[in-house]
Amino acid sequence: MSEQKGNNKQGIGPRKFRPPTNPWFFILLALAIMVGINSITMMSLNGAVQVVDYSEFTKMVEDGQVESVEISSGMITFTSKSGLLRSAARYQTVAVEDQYLVERLLKNGVNFGGKVSRPSFFEILLVYVLPIAFYAVMIIWIVRMFKGGAKGGIGALNFGKSGAKLYEVSDASKKFSDVAGQDEAKEALIELVDFLHQPNKYKAMGAKLPKGALLVGPPGTGKTLLAQAVAGEAGVPFFFVSGSAFVEMFVGTGAARVRDLFKQANEKAPCIVFIDEIDAIGKKRDTIGISANDEREQALNQLLAEMDGFDPSKGIVVLGATNRPEILDKALLRPGRFDRRIIVDLPDLKGREAVLRVHARPIRMDKDVDYAAIAKATVGASGADLANIVNEAALRAVRMDHHAVLQEDLEASVETVIAGSERKSLVVPEKEKRMIACHEIGHALVAARQKNAAPVHKITIIPRTSGALGFTMQVDEEDRVLLSREDLLARLTVLSAGRAAEQFMFGTCTTGASNDIEQMTKIARSMVTRYGMSSKFGMMSLESGGSAYLGQEGRAICSSESAAVVDKEVAALVSDAFENASRILKENASHLTRLTNYLLEKETLMGDEFMEILDAEPAGTADGDGA
Ligand code: ADP
Ligand code: ZN
Repeated sequence: MSEQKGNNKQGIGPRKFRPPTNPWFFILLALAIMVGINSITMMSLNGAVQVVDYSEFTKMVEDGQVESVEISSGMITFTSKSGLLRSAARYQTVAVEDQYLVERLLKNGVNFGGKVSRPSFFEILLVYVLPIAFYAVMIIWIVRMFKGGAKGGIGALNFGKSGAKLYEVSDASKKFSDVAGQDEAKEALIELVDFLHQPNKYKAMGAKLPKGALLVGPPGTGKTLLAQAVAGEAGVPFFFVSGSAFVEMFVGTGAARVRDLFKQANEKAPCIVFIDEIDAIGKKRDTIGISANDEREQALNQLLAEMDGFDPSKGIVVLGATNRPEILDKALLRPGRFDRRIIVDLPDLKGREAVLRVHARPIRMDKDVDYAAIAKATVGASGADLANIVNEAALRAVRMDHHAVLQEDLEASVETVIAGSERKSLVVPEKEKRMIACHEIGHALVAARQKNAAPVHKITIIPRTSGALGFTMQVDEEDRVLLSREDLLARLTVLSAGRAAEQFMFGTCTTGASNDIEQMTKIARSMVTRYGMSSKFGMMSLESGGSAYLGQEGRAICSSESAAVVDKEVAALVSDAFENASRILKENASHLTRLTNYLLEKETLMGDEFMEILDAEPAGTADGDGA
């Protein structure tokens, strides 16, 4: 229904000319123009007048060279007679107190008279009107620019404007094909696209379409991208605004901004209004006390009113994005507002491969690149992470002078994104290096010897900028959706194996296990409080809140006695895991020593290499005699 050219360009598009905003620019410009005007004025007033001394003037009068004289206050202007050799010229001299002047002029027959100095119209224009007009224009311009926040200005004086960026739709805009995976989300959004295309079809049927949809999911999964793609597919304008924009700055402006946003949207309908981080204004309203959040509540109320207010057949669709749906106000979620919820979750194995492929499109990739392998190694990565991995790989390929991006570039950049880049300059003393190697082999060995643990992918003792001194990477064959109690116990055992190996080989423990300990405690606590996997409590929830998408933990909801029991249970799970790991290591003591030496020498071991060495010799040739 709406043609692209139908969107009248009101100077809002990102490509439009933006006036310079630096105040120095204007000050310098004003100075330059003033100097220009001044010199023009001086020149035109003086014409080709020659300035001479008073004595020269009297001499010329006495010599009879002067034709006429004009006396004004403080200044004498005179014209010389034209002679054979020279034409008449105008002169000026400063009037000196001279009582004989009139006498002298009369004696020499010079025409003289006074002159009332009345400036000409042109002079008035030049000296008075022009500069004033110039300054007036300047001031108006500057004030406008500061005000025009919604139009790409600076907006310090821009109280009520929404600050919504309007992206004019162009060929370059996003399409669904730019969004990899997320098929369910796309399916849910296609209906909206159709609605924006032909609202009348739905109107004729009497069907009401949702006014808004909420995109819910962890950060970086492509929510903004999806909203842009809906606008791109429908060929309608796209308003992007962040929820926090409504609550920042001046008191009382939030509601005005919301109003202004919808006014703009109404003018451009059909269109899409995208409110990112909608939880910033959509948080549950407090019922207790006079809140400090009055400002936010007003903005929220205004948003609710606007969403009820606009005519749905006009084709305005409001899309909101959040990664904390649980804190949103119920009023925002009721039918007629954001009644549709579209989950945009972390991509699965296939999704990750698709995202990698989408982002590899503009990049020169080697034809043997195995995207599936990279996807496998990036469990839990968001679309944004994957985009970053591809880009890092391309940068590395340039650095390494490769003809195209190779598999090794991708693998290295996965590690860079997960663990930070390599810190080759860090000098680790030989003894500590041995301990780190032993720690990592401990993890790997226990992982290899346990049924429920994921296979080892890579072991390295090259320190990373993230602070890790080494790591053991495990990669599951496929994505896991469910984890059994045995899986979790196996994880705990593998995590504790680093410390167990140190203890076994060196009889001491180090700070190197701090990260392992943190992870173990988290898993063990969740097992008790959230997954109902402890015999003491069974299926009892001991925790509430927390964010599904941000990985935040909730608050304990149990008596303090129970909390003490929880702690005991967690400690028991952790120490059982440690016992288990120690036992496995003892059974494989010879492997532990041999592989530690090997890793020390190589610094990095791939999973299959590790397994080969491990299987090369049967275990049990040596007893655990420590080292
Ligand atoms: P969100 O709004 O969910 O935080 P964005 O939409 O801003 O995330 O995504 C950030 C970037 O990550 C995008 O610009 C895009 O490059 C990349 N990205 C995320 N998800 C996908 C996806 N499904 N397909 C392709 N690229 C994606
Ligand atoms: Zn460790």
